[in-house]
Amino acid sequence: MSNEPTEQLVARLRRTLDSGRTRDLDWRRAQLLALSQMLTENKDALVGALAEDLGKPRFEAWAGDVASSASEADHLRKHVRSWARDSSARLPLPFLPGRGSIRHEPRGVVLVIAPWNYPVYLLATPLAAALAAGNAVVCKPSELAPATSALITRLAGEYLDPSAIAFVEGGVDETTALLEQKFDHILYTGNGTVGRIVASAAARHLTPTTLELGGKSPAIVDRDANLKQAASRIAFAKWSNAGQTCIAVDHVWVHHDVHDELVERLATEVRERYGDDPKQSPDFGRIVNERHTARIAGLIDGGGYDDVAFGGDIDLESRYVAPTVLTGVKPDAAVMGEEIFGPVLPVLGFGDISEPIEHINKGDHPLALYVFSRRNSDRVLAATTSGGACVNDTMMQVFPPSLPFGGVGESGYGAYHGKWGFETFSHRRAIYRRPGFFVEPALAKAPYTETKQRLARFVY
Ligand code: NAD
Repeated sequence: MSNEPTEQLVARLRRTLDSGRTRDLDWRRAQLLALSQMLTENKDALVGALAEDLGKPRFEAWAGDVASSASEADHLRKHVRSWARDSSARLPLPFLPGRGSIRHEPRGVVLVIAPWNYPVYLLATPLAAALAAGNAVVCKPSELAPATSALITRLAGEYLDPSAIAFVEGGVDETTALLEQKFDHILYTGNGTVGRIVASAAARHLTPTTLELGGKSPAIVDRDANLKQAASRIAFAKWSNAGQTCIAVDHVWVHHDVHDELVERLATEVRERYGDDPKQSPDFGRIVNERHTARIAGLIDGGGYDDVAFGGDIDLESRYVAPTVLTGVKPDAAVMGEEIFGPVLPVLGFGDISEPIEHINKGDHPLALYVFSRRNSDRVLAATTSGGACVNDTMMQVFPPSLPFGGVGESGYGAYHGKWGFETFSHRRAIYRRPGFFVEPALAKAPYTETKQRLARFVY
């Protein structure tokens, strides 16, 4: 944990920013390279810390946290020179002769607040975007993933430029102290209640924010869907990281005609992935802490459904919740009241595609929406909105750096990943240059004679 008083720390980073050091493209690229090297050279230690915090399976920890973050840093390093170049803008007649250009400038000293579920990825990728845009950065890892938080903070001290990049460990007190400072941008990832606290604190300084929040992301499986594909991709999204993924499938709407077959196929997927007893599988994760395990148990105990099709075992002490499917779920069931953020999958039946559409539109805009359908996918996309969406797949909207990642409404605002992250952490400064020798006709100079007004109407 940094012992430096918060105010002093932010002032120190601001001095570095003011020196121009972080604007230098060689510096940005060097920091992105160092970040990528920090992740790849310490992948085993990071995978170990993620196992300690979340029981994360080795492959999921490497792919979802470490390799994905390094690849984002590499992508930004590769493109930052061309993105940072001034771009020219076409100007209408009244502004000629003259030249318009747009310059991407760093926002300044920025704050990144990360959650515990992908504690490397959700810290390192916004950090990489902020560095690419030339900012000084304060990172606040989540206290709920303490082993990862301590390790990444130590590694950052060894690999990254401490004059411009600071890590502050801690919980509510430390974050509250940070939020009292004036930042030039804040990117927060986590739940909406804290998102509101962050946005209110930021408003006191007129600091722009990006809020990456969550919500209940549905999957819709239509009568004509490829059920094997749908079951496999829903299983991937629901049961990797034990369902603790912001873009996980929260619940499934399935056409009555294919309901039973989908549930059977989901059971097969679980057996194929984790064997007959997922508790023994090294590839199935654990819930982050007892409080969240008890919360998920409460959602199952809350009723409002007909059957536990499979799963349902819970062990508080080892924070284990079995991959679980609930069937005959009513829209007002406890499990439909909040984001589940665990390996429990409610299944709701429908007879007409308008039913899930209506339900989605009655609720908050989800972060993700997945539709498995041949005939109706465009209809679902046209009639709803969500942060991102997939047709006949899950979670893939997040990985290509050419697609923006962000929420809408209750699932957040703003976006990042690839160039979108560079844009988020940049100020676009409009610059207009007039040739020094040119003296324009004084149209806008009083007195506004009839001739001047007529000429102005013609020109504009
Ligand atoms: P969390 O408890 O780790 O909190 C996130 C951060 O907020 C932490 O750094 C924490 O220290 C800080 N924090 C907590 N309480 C605070 C307070 N009172 N004041 C100031 N800061 C405070 O993580 P979480 O909120 O449990 O994360 C899970 C949620 O995040 C889910 O809703 C999930 O959908 C969402 N999420 C969204 C994304 C996304 O990219 N959109 C990614 C992951 C998680």
